[in-house]
Amino acid sequence: MDPGILKEAAAVIRSGGLVAFPTETVYGLGADATNPEAAAKIYAAKGRPSDNPLIAHIGAYEEFSRVAAEIPEKARTLADAFWPGPLTLIVKKHGSVPYETTGGLDTVAVRMPAHPAALALIRASGCPIAAPSANTSGRPSPTLAAHVAEDLGGKIPLILDGGEVGIGIESTILDLTGTIPTILRPGFVTKEMLQETIGPVRIDPGILREDSDIRPKAPGMKYRHYAPNAELVIVDGEASAVIQKINTLAEQLTAQGKRVGVLGTDETSGAYRGTVFRSIGPRRDEEAIARHLYRVLREFDEDRVDIIYSESFFAPGIGQAVKNRLLKAAAHRILRV
Ligand code: AMP
Ligand code: MG
Repeated sequence: MDPGILKEAAAVIRSGGLVAFPTETVYGLGADATNPEAAAKIYAAKGRPSDNPLIAHIGAYEEFSRVAAEIPEKARTLADAFWPGPLTLIVKKHGSVPYETTGGLDTVAVRMPAHPAALALIRASGCPIAAPSANTSGRPSPTLAAHVAEDLGGKIPLILDGGEVGIGIESTILDLTGTIPTILRPGFVTKEMLQETIGPVRIDPGILREDSDIRPKAPGMKYRHYAPNAELVIVDGEASAVIQKINTLAEQLTAQGKRVGVLGTDETSGAYRGTVFRSIGPRRDEEAIARHLYRVLREFDEDRVDIIYSESFFAPGIGQAVKNRLLKAAAHRILRV
């Protein structure tokens, strides 16, 4: 990225302004994490509920102790293994981090991103950068600079364009403030990968259950989220039964004058009749599915469909993160066939 633009962006951050920038997970909307007025601007631009805390992004391991009151042994081990990378750690917050950044909590979420432009921006700014995803609250997270412009163009002074992101789904969030480390949001770094590094890890029971009404511990995970404008329904079951069910439903709705979208895979393109079909990628390629999910959901908005039927993509590994986001985008509407 052009050094002149990075310098300009760092100056905006230092003066309490907002800059959208690429990370390896999704685009972030950044502000000085130690400046309460700057953090407040993030909530205003996104329309984000004020009880939904922000992640503080750091540019070097040494900055961890500037935002955390104490660094538990396991946090050290995990940072060593996974930073820079898509893992966010929740620890007790340092006094320098205002409650405006943590949504009123005494804990803080911290991550060192792996994207070179993100690291360069944080380092040039000289402060930790609070950054949620750079979308309007509730919409699919941005994986392209154009998505950021769609949602926030005109509301923020600067968007750094780093092309398409590599991972496409937000970081794994691990809470280290309890007795057993707990995954509050699944991501690219899986439970198995964490357990190999620090031993037993559990998953917050509020997040993966398909019909859950247990309250998730990460405040942000309780809202309908990652969602396109159209209603989204997941159809889960054996492939041929899913195709048949979707075709039957699509035929009925089309007869009523509705536009029907179908989210499928390369393997099922051509299997659906009379619908707006979009492929998320080859079914066996879990990483491609994660990378394309939000872009495809946004494209359905451009297609102006009334309803989207999605095949289910519930594989192990990063598939768990895809499952979590898709269930939230669908507000847990799932049809079993
Ligand atoms: P985003 O930045 O848009 O990826 O959202 C950040 C996510 O991290 C939200 O779901 C927050 O609720 C969660 N989060 C941030 N800080 C904390 C914290 N201190 N405790 C629990 N969850 C947190
Ligand atoms: Mg977000």
